[in-house]
Amino acid sequence: MTTMTYEERLHAFAQGKRLRRFRGMLRFPCDTTCDACGSALPNYLYGLRDMEARRDYFVGANCLTRLSQMLILERPFVRANITSAYLAARGIPEELALPHQPRLEDPSHPCCIHGRNGDGHDGA
Ligand SMILES: [Zn+2]
Repeated sequence: MTTMTYEERLHAFAQGKRLRRFRGMLRFPCDTTCDACGSALPNYLYGLRDMEARRDYFVGANCLTRLSQMLILERPFVRANITSAYLAARGIPEELALPHQPRLEDPSHPCCIHGRNGDGHDGA
């Protein structure tokens, strides 16, 4: 196993990618990892789409900040639903609710992944 520093991980992650942000974020207290650094259980996940490979990545708040300092995140935002993209990227069927997440789109559900996108008050 190679051990990489945090910076090296981020550089490796960002290399050759043209990243564009999703609007909103996912509040995700359940099992997940940050795609950039591999850290387990980030409190929030932010979506990034690689415009070259058409792949979506989900990273924690720290990594998003560092990545946006390291490279220019493209504008405009990705026009896609972050929740749907997340489920697709993780191979979770959209209609299949995660355990104790009966309604993914219900913003009042406390343990629920939901983007704040698409409803006109993203606060950005
Ligand atoms: Zn990370």
